Formats: sequence, C-alpha cells, structure tokens
Amino acid sequence: MHSARLFEQARHAIPGGVNSPVRAFNGVGGTPRFIERADGAYLYDVDGKAYVDYIGSWGPMLLGHNHPLIKQAVLEAVERGLSYGAPTAIEVEMAETLQRLMPSMEMSRMVNSGTEATMSAIRLARGYTGRDKFIKFEGCYHGHADALLVKAGSGALTLGQPSSPGVPADFVKHTLTCTFNDLASVEAAFADYPIEIACVIVEPVAGNMNCIPPEPGFLEGLRALCDEYGALLILDEVMTGFRVGLQGAQGHYGIRPDLTTLGKIIGGGMPVGAFGGRREVMEYLAPVGPVYQAGTLSGNPVAMAAGLAMLKAIQQPGLYEALADKTRRIAEGLKQAAERHGIPLAITHVGGMFGFFFSREPSVSRFEQVTACDMSAFRRFYHLMLEQGVYLAPSAYEAGFVSLAHGDAEIEKTLHAADLAFAQLRN
Ligand code: PLP
Repeated sequence: MHSARLFEQARHAIPGGVNSPVRAFNGVGGTPRFIERADGAYLYDVDGKAYVDYIGSWGPMLLGHNHPLIKQAVLEAVERGLSYGAPTAIEVEMAETLQRLMPSMEMSRMVNSGTEATMSAIRLARGYTGRDKFIKFEGCYHGHADALLVKAGSGALTLGQPSSPGVPADFVKHTLTCTFNDLASVEAAFADYPIEIACVIVEPVAGNMNCIPPEPGFLEGLRALCDEYGALLILDEVMTGFRVGLQGAQGHYGIRPDLTTLGKIIGGGMPVGAFGGRREVMEYLAPVGPVYQAGTLSGNPVAMAAGLAMLKAIQQPGLYEALADKTRRIAEGLKQAAERHGIPLAITHVGGMFGFFFSREPSVSRFEQVTACDMSAFRRFYHLMLEQGVYLAPSAYEAGFVSLAHGDAEIEKTLHAADLAFAQLRN
C-alpha cells in the first residue's frame, strides 16, 4: 500500500508523519490515507481508491472539491502575482462582503488562519476592555494559541492532552473554563470576577467535541451576561461561519456578537482567517488604535480571490436549504441504520454539519456525555466505513461536514456502507 509506505517515510521527516495531529489517525488507529487529488464529493488516495469525503479539508469545501468557480478565480489571481504586501481592491470587497452577509462585522481584518483570528480577537477584547481574564468552554477548540490550549477539543482532546506541555502556567492563569450549555457555570465565573473578564469566546455550535448545538437560551444567556458585566461576546465562527447558514450561526440563532472570528470557508480552501465586529472595538486595532496585530501575507490576493468566489457562489437562493436537507438525510439515515441493527446512536445536525454518538442517551448536549460515548465502537465503525470508501473524521470529537457536491448517489453509498458496518458491529 503506497499510503503505508509514505506514512513510514513521513514519520522520519515530520513529527508523527503529519502537519496537523488529528490527521495521523491516533484517535482510530491504523494508517492515514495519503491523498493524491480531490474532486466534488470525493478524495482519491495514492493507491487509487475513491472515498466519499465528510471532512472537506476540515470545513472549507462547502461546494465540494476543486470547484470550477474557485479554481478559475485562483488561476486568474495567480496570473496577476502571488503577493504584494500592499492594499488591494479585493480586500475591500472581501471586508464589504463580510459586512453585508454578517451585519455584526461592521469592520473586519484578514489573517491567515483561524488560530490567528481567535488569538487576535482575544487580544483586541483585552485591549479594548482593559481586562485580562476570558472565558472559554471545555471541549471547545479555538486554535492552538497558548492561552486557548486549556481543556480544548478536537486534536487536543483526541490526544488526551487538553493542556499542552510548553504552555507556561502563567500564560493560562487568565483563562477561565466553563461548561458548554450550562449557563450557571458562566454566571458563577462572572460572579467570581465581575470586573476582570474581558470576553467570552464560544463556538456557537460546538464542532470540536463532535457536534453539539447550543440549547435554547444558552447563547442568549451568554449575550445577556456579557452585557451585564461589560464583557465582549466573541462568536468563534471559524467552523460554523457560512456552514450552518448564509449569516453563520449568529444569523441562525439570532445572536449579535461584539466580535466574530472566521476561517475555513471564507478562504475557499486557501489559508485564511478573519476577525471583525463592532466598529468602535475594531478601531482599537493598529494603525488607528493601540492594539497591535499584523501579517506579512494577510489579505493575500490569491486567497482573497478564492474566498470571494466562494462567498459569491454561496449566495445562490436555496443553497443552504439543500445543504441542510442533505445533512439531515445523512444524519437521520445513520440513526435508522443503527436502529435496524439494535445499536444505540444519538445524532445531531445543524446546516451542513452533523454528529453521531455511540451513546444510549436520547440526546447528547454536554461535554461529559461526549467523552462517555463508546469509543471502541466508534473506532470499529470508522474502519468499516473507510474500507467501504467513506471518509469520516478519524476522531469521535469532530463534526462531519457535508458539501453541495454530495448527491443522492453519495448519500446512498454512505448509508448502505453504514448499514453493513452496523451489522458487523453487532456481531
Ligand atoms: N476555531 C474553531 C472553531 C476551529 O474549528 C478551528 C480549527 O479547526 C480553529 C478555530 C483554528 O483554525 P485553524 O486551524 O485555521 O488555525
């Protein structure tokens, strides 16, 4: 198998053979597939096998891989040069497009990854409020900046290292961790530190501990507490932005944050992030304000071209209804297949993201319920699906992503594979 040979080779040259930990399959065991190319709903590995892809490059590929509109925009941009390090019209168009689609983003700044977006947004919130502490939630992941690597989800959770060595205790002493979907835990933190908390950062749909939607009232409660105590609310929409709807999770749930962080989809597959929000807060940023933030390649013209092509394409009427319908069919189909074989499975889905949990609980909405799931059943299911050409996230802590390129044939293939996999799991 070429993948196995490449993985062996890679492990001598790259730590763990990968450039981002969760790709190494540590959560499920076995050999990661090395990918040669991708098109539509499919990935093709170096051994020539095709997979229906539910990772979508961890979120960006909302339209499917290799979409002609995005490819064309990139090729045209490349013709004009790769990077100028000077302002461009396309950056203005990007900021204005974000402003229009997400009205809370009165101003925005581009960066190169989701990590940079959340790190910069928190620095800005601290600078603006003059406060040091902030609240995050157990199981939520906001990238790998030091102060955020506390009880993080995603790869950090899969590896069992929620707080990473290399992060000095002093750097996280201002990071307060509360429980997702438990407003009382946030009230308690504010009661303890009424004038010290700069901001609350939250994934509006938690997608780094599988897929956990907010319970009714949770996000509204965060908004109210932030207002009461003079803290900023940061919605980390790096994953949910333009995945759960055209106005992101903030539009879907009707919550106006002070700051929003974006990434993934807004780059169309290129390395991009952004943060933005209230004008008064954003004007605290250099060069108009005192809070420093910068980037050699920020607003890169090729990345902006890819991102804008994506943001134009997703404004097509009916697109998000179609995406949500595909996602619902997959999630409900998985549940029905599991039920046919007497396997307890809980599911969640919002817009184009879904989760499934090997759990006896009728619904899963808390972090401790996620970690209590049957991980060995997940691992077996994962490999049974992979063998049949269905590429799920290799971790029970990641949301699944559906694209517009997933048609009836791909959905049927997935559900048929799941039926066979659940049948084998029962034996
Ligand atoms: N925030 C959320 C909600 C994410 O899901 C991620 C990445 O998965 C990040 C931030 C970090 O983004 P990046 O990996 O681009 O640095």
